[in-house]
Amino acid sequence: MVLIDGKATAAAIKQEIAARVAEIVGAGGKRPHLAAVLVGHDGGSETYVKNKVLACEACGFESTLIRYEDDVTEEELLACVARLNADDAVDGFIVQLPLPRHISEQRVIEAIDYRKDVDGFHPVNVGRMAIGLPCYISATPLGILELLRRYKVETSGKRCVVLGRSNIVGKPMASLMMQKQYGDATVTVLHSRSRDLKEECRRADILIAAIGRPGFVTAAMVKPGAVVIDVGTTRVPDATRKSGYRLSGDVDFDAVKDIAAAITPVPGGVGPMTICMLMLNTLAAGEKKFYS
Ligand code: NAP
Repeated sequence: MVLIDGKATAAAIKQEIAARVAEIVGAGGKRPHLAAVLVGHDGGSETYVKNKVLACEACGFESTLIRYEDDVTEEELLACVARLNADDAVDGFIVQLPLPRHISEQRVIEAIDYRKDVDGFHPVNVGRMAIGLPCYISATPLGILELLRRYKVETSGKRCVVLGRSNIVGKPMASLMMQKQYGDATVTVLHSRSRDLKEECRRADILIAAIGRPGFVTAAMVKPGAVVIDVGTTRVPDATRKSGYRLSGDVDFDAVKDIAAAITPVPGGVGPMTICMLMLNTLAAGEKKFYS
């Protein structure tokens, strides 16, 4: 069994990005600049944003963190988005989700200039991704593609099962795995209404689980020799940890690792790659790779 090490892969990619930034700056160019907007004090969001700022440092980017309390109005947040859209110093920015219930996430996403939408959530980027045009691809599916590529996992013509159909993971993942220029695989998408879910999973050469149900994928659901990618990251209570919780994937790792040809751990698999791909998108924004 091959352990697909997202942490080590992400570290290597960040070094590659830092080297490119040094080249750009050495040639008199501008250091890429990522801004992050964080609303409230949700523990998960705080951690993600902190890690994004640290990743910016590792890559040699400039970063700006803009914070609002939970009671920020939608109007104020949209005004902030408009300011960032207009700010030439900022190459790309993200608004960390989830947002408080009184704010429409969709309205905020659509207010972001798609040319600075390094999360790849704006409908223009989602649409361009779906038809194979250059664009920002959302970080989690992009990170999974990169892991498959770097670990030389053959995807063309393979049966790929994507478990989950969210806008940020399941749907773009399935779309990318299907497209000739990316996965070129035969893709099945499963969700909470799917029938024969276990049998469908067992047919997969590549199984990508993104449902947020700890340990849902058991050994009986995995074909011997399959490649298993675990996107799930659910906080489960754990009194032995200082934090009081541990992160659990959607796959029963201990049982599945003996059957799979390759598998990502949680933590240390898809998670670090996600942040790293946000950095890659920011570099692309700085270099005006997709949009001028
Ligand atoms: P989400 O928006 O909650 O979507 C979950 C999807 O799973 C839905 O499509 C849902 O089906 C499906 N589902 C839920 N229970 C199911 C079941 N018992 N059987 C079959 N399908 C089921 O989740 P998400 O945002 O995609 O995130 C999924 C997981 O990935 C979470 O643990 C999240 O924390 C993690 N995540 C990790 C990263 C990372 O960087 N590592 C990034 C993003 C997300 P319906 O559509 O029918 O409701």
